[in-house]
Amino acid sequence: MEDRRSLPEAFCTRMKGLLGGEWEAFLASYDEKRYYGLRRNPLKSSAESFTAQMPYALEKVSWAEEGYYYQEEEQPGKHVLHEAGAYYIQEPSAMAVVGILDPQPGERILDLCAAPGGKSTQIAGRLQGEGLLVANEVISDRARILSQNIERMGIRNCVVLSEEPGRVAELFPGVFDRVVVDAPCSGEGMFRKDETAVEQWSEDHVRMCADRQLMILREAARCLKPGGVLVYSTCTFAPEENEGTISRFIREQEDFLIEEIPHDANFAPGRAEWTDEPATGLTYTMRLWPHRLRGEGHYIARLRRKGSMDGEMSGRVQNRGRTFAGKERRRAEAVKRELTEALQAFLVKELGIKEDWLARQGGSVERFGEQLYLVPEGMISMQGIKVLRPGLHLATEKKNRLEPAHSLALALTAAEPDRVWELSYEEAVRYLRGESLSCNAQKGWTLLTYSGYPLGFGKAAGTQMKNHYPKGLRKYI
Ligand code: SAM
Repeated sequence: MEDRRSLPEAFCTRMKGLLGGEWEAFLASYDEKRYYGLRRNPLKSSAESFTAQMPYALEKVSWAEEGYYYQEEEQPGKHVLHEAGAYYIQEPSAMAVVGILDPQPGERILDLCAAPGGKSTQIAGRLQGEGLLVANEVISDRARILSQNIERMGIRNCVVLSEEPGRVAELFPGVFDRVVVDAPCSGEGMFRKDETAVEQWSEDHVRMCADRQLMILREAARCLKPGGVLVYSTCTFAPEENEGTISRFIREQEDFLIEEIPHDANFAPGRAEWTDEPATGLTYTMRLWPHRLRGEGHYIARLRRKGSMDGEMSGRVQNRGRTFAGKERRRAEAVKRELTEALQAFLVKELGIKEDWLARQGGSVERFGEQLYLVPEGMISMQGIKVLRPGLHLATEKKNRLEPAHSLALALTAAEPDRVWELSYEEAVRYLRGESLSCNAQKGWTLLTYSGYPLGFGKAAGTQMKNHYPKGLRKYI
């Protein structure tokens, strides 16, 4: 949307009042082109090989090490490498949030408002497969898209839930090292790219969003360990939803404080004078303005729960599963061992994956109906929780045999299995459409790759490669 006349009048009046001398520059940004961004998936490639393989002119986003601008006329969403999870298309300002969260390999991270997965997939890249990511999205249709993106990006250590924030807090009290709340908001910062945000805008909506944000933050706080980091972000300018929400939260939660985020030419400080009863440290929070940087509007605050992360966890994940005693426990363990051994034998024999691969992943193999998943370490029993993805989907049990899962293909590197078949671009396009391909590969399950990136499985027989790309994902690109 590049016509400034369609901005809501009441929005213009309040922004003019807030911005004073900066208003004209801010308004002029609506006549400028938007910036388009994509983020490299560090689980799949280094910066050097990625930029060498990408067919687009890319320019670095200065505040996100994995981020690049691409030109408006390109269509990176319609390239084979996109389906291979080599990158995620994301608005450049939105890439700043995970940098502020600063997740470290091995930590437990919660993304409480996660769909469609921009922050979660970036967090997973930073975790490098170590630790646990719980990605939650309350709206189930959106949670399904989130789950697909987790799969496409080849993430091994993520559990996808679809629960109310209050329920997540009941299940995971004091568990996470870091929590991100990328809150539902009035979306003023997206007016340039999202017409519905303009249509839905009203002052009442801003107030409703602010109350909802405070409610979500309260639940997020319950999930955090003492000493843990809570990052709050919105894509709106409204002070009620930014400095206002943070001030209300800090006033009622005595064990939280605002941490300083370094500001630079791109990142402006939060505005304490724009809210009644400002909390101490509001200028430590950060505003991203579309007239000051090459991206849309955002607000980010980094909070810390007082206390130390050392020693015992303050809260414990509730073990909601059945607890087995004596004989029953030994029987359950034996069943699990058998399942793991059968799966390991399948991976070795049918895919040529090294014997120790499964053990090296950590976590435990669990059966959900006919589906076998690798549940990441540190995850609780999932009975009674709305779980869309309990970890890495490894295989499906069919009559007396196993079939490898599509998620497994995307989570592998081309070096892990023996049976790998590299496709040309044209073959890869046909594979994504669901067509069979001609080949002279060794009979059996084969990992199909393009430019070294796994795309999915095929099954070779004679001169044919049977297509096992999931029907629901087939695409004409
Ligand atoms: N973090 C996401 C990303 O980077 O792709 C974007 C999240 S979006 C800004 C906010 C999300 O909050 C939406 O997916 C929305 O469905 C969800 N949401 C809406 N109402 C909610 C509520 N009451 N509690 C928690 N999440 C809610």
